[in-house]
This record gives sequence, structure tokens and C-alpha cells, in this order.
Amino acid sequence: MTCELCAPADVLFETALAYVSPDAHALSKGHVIVVPKRHVESFFDMSAQEQAAVFELLHKAQKSLQALHKPDGYNIGVNIGKAAGQSRMHVHVHLIPRYAGDVPDPAGGVRRVLPAKG
Ligand SMILES: [Zn+2]
Repeated sequence: MTCELCAPADVLFETALAYVSPDAHALSKGHVIVVPKRHVESFFDMSAQEQAAVFELLHKAQKSLQALHKPDGYNIGVNIGKAAGQSRMHVHVHLIPRYAGDVPDPAGGVRRVLPAKG
């Protein structure tokens, strides 16, 4: 099976098992996604080796973003399943740099995914 994440247009960093790409609809300057190369739908279906590759690349991307854009914080997020908002059915872990003042009140962070309950 193939999809847009199986055949990425733009790769910033990669290992044998995973890669980093800019998010096509970046929420903030430097927003990237970290993606296993194998077509895997769910975060929980990645192998231990793929999870390790994804974490290695999260660290590598964070170092690079910190040097390039000097964000003040980060959110890491994964949507798992359509009910959780996953629209590209190939695991991708968002690394979203955050900048002081980018929203009026950042309290809650990813807890705000359910705005009425955040
Ligand atoms: Zn895919």
C-alpha cells in the first residue's frame, strides 16, 4: 500500500526506518512530522525499532529547530484513528514549535484537543 507519506515530497532528516518532513499545513514556523517509512496506520502498530527511530528523529529535529527558529516550547502530538482526527492513515508524529504569545493563553496545551473540556 502506498500513500503521500509513503512517498514523501520533502525529507529533512532520515534514518533507515523513519524520516522528518515539513508539515504541509504548518501550524507554526518549523512544524514538522516524523514518519515511519513502512506504511503503518497506527502509532501503536509501529515496531519497537520504528518507535526508536521516530524518537531519535524527534530529538534531531528539535535540535535543528531550536538552532534555526529558537522556539520557546514544543507540542508533540499524534492522532490515532479517525475519531481522534487522524486524516492521513499513516502514522505521523507532529513536532510543533511554540512561540511565546502565539496564542493568548497556551494553558492546557494538547489537553485542548477537546476544546469544550480543555
Ligand atoms: Zn503510507
